[in-house]
Amino acid sequence: MSLPAPSLAVRLESLTVNQRLVLQALQRETEPLSAQALFTKLRETKKIGLATVYRALDALKLAGFIQHQATMTGELLYQTLEQDQHCLTCLQCGESFPIQGCPVQSLEENLQANYSFRIYYHTLEFFGLCQLCAKGNG
Ligand SMILES: [Zn+2]
Ligand SMILES: [Zn+2]
Repeated sequence: MSLPAPSLAVRLESLTVNQRLVLQALQRETEPLSAQALFTKLRETKKIGLATVYRALDALKLAGFIQHQATMTGELLYQTLEQDQHCLTCLQCGESFPIQGCPVQSLEENLQANYSFRIYYHTLEFFGLCQLCAKGNG
């Protein structure tokens, strides 16, 4: 996966200490995290305020390091951009099934070229019924 210019190293250098802290904490996670959950984790070892976490998340989002997605309850979950992960989410049991690879990678490259737009990330989710729930309904 190619990263958008300017280079990652250059962009990393422009981060504040707190922004780096938040980014590193997110990088350790395998699943998207809410700001509150991230704050709770950080507080185990660091002195950091919730407002600082929110500010850092905002800055990291605008700098193209992280993305957020809204859950069905409207809560925002944050994750790093390296996790280009898409899911099939079951509307009945709420289970998420990660899919292999990114189905829109080439589309993203085309859009970038055709519209001269630097794309940081995309979201793509599929909703329906999982095998178990579909059986129960059938
Ligand atoms: Zn289900
Ligand atoms: Zn993708």
